Amino acid sequence: MNREELINLATKHGSPLYVYDTERIIHQYKTITSAFSKVKNLKINYAVKALSNVNILKVFNTLKSGLDTVSIQEVKLGLHAGFKPKDIIYTPNGVSLQEIEEVAKLGVQINIDNLSILELFGQKHPKVPVCIRINPHIMAGGNSNISVGHIDSKFGISIHQVPHIKRVVENTGMRINGIHMHTGSDILDIDTFLRATEILFDVAKKFKNIDFIDFGSGFKVPYKKDDISTDIIELGEKLSIRFNEFCKEYGKNIALMFEPGKYLVSESGYFLAKVNVIKQTTSTVFAGIDSGMNHLIRPMLYNAYHHIENLSNPKGRERFYSIVGYICETDTFGSNRRINEISEEDILCFHNAGAYCYSMASNYNSRFKPAEVMIYKGKDYVIRKRETMDDILRNQEEVKL
Ligand SMILES: *Cc1c(COP(=O)(O)O)cnc(C)c1O
Repeated sequence: MNREELINLATKHGSPLYVYDTERIIHQYKTITSAFSKVKNLKINYAVKALSNVNILKVFNTLKSGLDTVSIQEVKLGLHAGFKPKDIIYTPNGVSLQEIEEVAKLGVQINIDNLSILELFGQKHPKVPVCIRINPHIMAGGNSNISVGHIDSKFGISIHQVPHIKRVVENTGMRINGIHMHTGSDILDIDTFLRATEILFDVAKKFKNIDFIDFGSGFKVPYKKDDISTDIIELGEKLSIRFNEFCKEYGKNIALMFEPGKYLVSESGYFLAKVNVIKQTTSTVFAGIDSGMNHLIRPMLYNAYHHIENLSNPKGRERFYSIVGYICETDTFGSNRRINEISEEDILCFHNAGAYCYSMASNYNSRFKPAEVMIYKGKDYVIRKRETMDDILRNQEEVKL
């Protein structure tokens, strides 16, 4: 989206504001499906937790995508958006057997990542086929907070415990219908990823009647200029050939699944905020905006980089700024950023604001969560209203003192 369009949206809908360009989402979806066009049975399940507005889910429904969910609430959002239970996979971690049973009752594909739960579930519901989440112990990406395939990870059943899984399956008579992994959030090295897929193929061969292999996600998108990102075309070429070979070896055309979140929605999102104050100290110039870690926590939580642009003064002289929020914590979005000269009331734009931004927002400091706007077929729709005092007070039971 261009600068004028974004400024107009901030003027029309106020700030701070999240804007999602669905054309970009559709482009990303089509890129991944065409990269794997040689696979007969491909299924992309959008990871709801990245951006969970029900209208965004409906856009994915029009694309014939499925959903990847991590809570029963996400499952219910998906059903509300019109998805069929069979197009939803549920991959929880650390949730109760009771919640898993509730989701299974809805007809959603269950993915179990824990041996003790597998045994309990198999004994009670031997007729419900389940997918198993395997930890292949392959390190993906560099940041240990977003790597979930390593040895100390809480996610998945270790590859070394496959004999135990087999024993549970034999003892309970349950059926394993899918093999899953999700190794982390950043796949840069295709060959490392392909090594992990070989591990899954080996596991899959140990089960007689599987319907799919789900390779999770971890597709990386660029956050700054010259950032390397996952080469989907190369991955598509190499993995498709290997997958089709595997289907022949296995004797069945099983489905190949992925569940990207960030890849599909990150670049579609723009977060617009207004500059409240410029403050010069002895060591830096701060630009303080009408937002903070309550609306976009990734820089503070993971040290994530979001490119920041001054939409109001594109030709201004470049100067160095620290961009900070209005929350009473150290909430720095970026330090020593070279940005076109900023004045109070300018509108700044944070790029890559589609994934894990609004969905992690909170009401800290009793601030309202921002509005969300979706651009669909050239029109802007408010898909979530800005909050009001009623939202802050909702569910607070006032005691007479
Ligand atoms: C979060 C998550 C994803 C999506 O990861 P991205 O890095 O956003 O693509 C996929 N699968 C599972 C199980 C997840 O928890």
